[in-house]
Amino acid sequence: MSKPLIIAIDGPAASGKSTLARRLARALDYLYFDTGVLYRAVTWAALQRGLSPADEAAMTRLAETLDMDVRPPSQDDGRSNDVWVDGQDVTWAVRSPEVDAWVSVVAAHPGVRRALVDVQRRIGQAGRVVMVGRDIGTVILPDADLKIYLDASAEERARRRYLEAKARGQDADYDEILAALRERDRLDASRAVAPLRPAADAVVLQTDDLDADQVFAKVMALIQARNSAPLRRLP
Ligand code: C5P
Repeated sequence: MSKPLIIAIDGPAASGKSTLARRLARALDYLYFDTGVLYRAVTWAALQRGLSPADEAAMTRLAETLDMDVRPPSQDDGRSNDVWVDGQDVTWAVRSPEVDAWVSVVAAHPGVRRALVDVQRRIGQAGRVVMVGRDIGTVILPDADLKIYLDASAEERARRRYLEAKARGQDADYDEILAALRERDRLDASRAVAPLRPAADAVVLQTDDLDADQVFAKVMALIQARNSAPLRRLP
């Protein structure tokens, strides 16, 4: 039987989704698509334009009309893709603490989510893709062949973010990182539309005691196990 063509990876902030997805995509020669950048791009543009992230009508209009693009990486600086907005390379700008602080407010607006569904489905349904987000297995690609939900305690996720920032030589405060992660999780899990939660048929991996290699090995083993069993039964 063939490999899963569509792999959905969901989970809270800093649970290791992108590290896992990048490695899977490389190993399988699939496209890696991180859907968080779409919500980040809308949030970045809103802040640039002085629009209020809380204004649903304005955010929806922005998401519907924004000139944004995700392209293969143009530079070898650790990026997986380029993110372009209004003809500017905003790949790193969309990762700023300001965007972190507002992105979950923007992503909670039903109109914003509606505006971004089609582009995600088009990319996902083309297949040979590892797609990462919060609602990929539940809403965007409910028929994905393999759904993984990565989880870890807030403390462990904050610790990972803190160590990453330190390794990059950035100033970092563990308590601030932890508080910001908790707030983002709270908003993502409590919103009315497409809240963060595992799909009923997702494999949930608790990664507090697993490093990136172990998580990757577990998921590759799942993929191999599914290679030898039919993925979908015909009615
Ligand atoms: O994954 P990342 O941290 O880049 O996502 C940023 C934010 O975008 C999340 O906290 C969430 O509010 C939103 N998001 C979402 N649905 C997705 C991906 C991201 O709501 N599929």
